[in-house]
Amino acid sequence: MPQDRLVGLVFDDRYLAHNTGLDLIEDRAPYPFAEPISHPSSPALVGRAKHLMDLFGIAEQMRRIEPVFASDEQLSVYHTPEHLARVTLIAQTDGGDTGAGAPIGRGGDRIARLAAGGTIAAVDAVMTDAANAAYALARPPGHHAMANEGMGFCVFNNAVVAARQAQRVHGAQRVLVVDWDVHHGNGTQAAFWADPSVLFISVHQDDLYPPGWGAADQVGIGDGEGYTVNVPLPAGTGNRGYDEVFARIVTPVARQFDPDLVIVSAGQDASVMDPLARMSLTLAGYRAMTEEMMSVAAECCEGRLVVTQEGGYAPQYAPYCSAMIAQTLVGLPEDGQWIADPYGGRAEAQPASAELGLDATRAIERGLAVQQCYWAL
Ligand SMILES: [Zn+2]
Repeated sequence: MPQDRLVGLVFDDRYLAHNTGLDLIEDRAPYPFAEPISHPSSPALVGRAKHLMDLFGIAEQMRRIEPVFASDEQLSVYHTPEHLARVTLIAQTDGGDTGAGAPIGRGGDRIARLAAGGTIAAVDAVMTDAANAAYALARPPGHHAMANEGMGFCVFNNAVVAARQAQRVHGAQRVLVVDWDVHHGNGTQAAFWADPSVLFISVHQDDLYPPGWGAADQVGIGDGEGYTVNVPLPAGTGNRGYDEVFARIVTPVARQFDPDLVIVSAGQDASVMDPLARMSLTLAGYRAMTEEMMSVAAECCEGRLVVTQEGGYAPQYAPYCSAMIAQTLVGLPEDGQWIADPYGGRAEAQPASAELGLDATRAIERGLAVQQCYWAL
């Protein structure tokens, strides 16, 4: 990687103050988990990812990008005034749900705005060439947030407001959003459902969350038909299956779209260790997907790539995946060694790292059959 390549990093300790509280379902008695347990979207995950980036000498090779608080105007490109008002109101209390499973604590509106604003700042840096690529290591995440409500741990849709920033402020005509979080990016899909100027591609575990979202035949409507690409995959799909999906669908479609900016909604919850999903990606899988997106960006838009943090809930593994993404953006270290798997390669030894299962093959064939109506594949 050339030394003059600059990769930005958005991180702020205030992200760690986003308080999701305990995981209670109060309208059911007794509690479904017997005793209360910590909410899966813990500050330790993003905090540890940053810590690993420091320990491995990755962060010091990145240029710090200062996050900003997203304004009403910037959020209103997608979100309704009612949602903004509700989030503000809840943040003045001891906390509550901003929609369907997206809790914040007191003051949480400011942190959610700093997450959206951090992703916007990453876009600003990349679109003005202050950085070639950038990683917004922010929380709360964004891709489930709908126009009128928070959802699935997400308060504001960081990727959507960032894509609109690129278009409205920087004149980008076509923006690609690739969402590899293991859950479906329903909020992002809804935002661009009828819009051919933003191509949304989601690779996720089949019908996991939210229910009913992300089937292969959900392709957009009107002028946007064909500009939503869903590739649902069966539980257990690992590095080999994801390689195949990127090589045969994601990358060729992305190249044909020829974006002016690539945004990745990066959820590290497709990892082999994740408690909320059943996929089998390892560090090598995350490196490979990052490299694919870097090559699309290099070919189409001078490398302009923004990675925005979504999910990832394995405390011992997801932060490593995030650090691996950052290391891939920065480039192979001088010692020629990528970050080693913390489990000594046991995760890589899973059969799904090397083998393409029959169910995954069928899912990919199904995805291809749908997408061949719109793209040369
Ligand atoms: Zn997720």
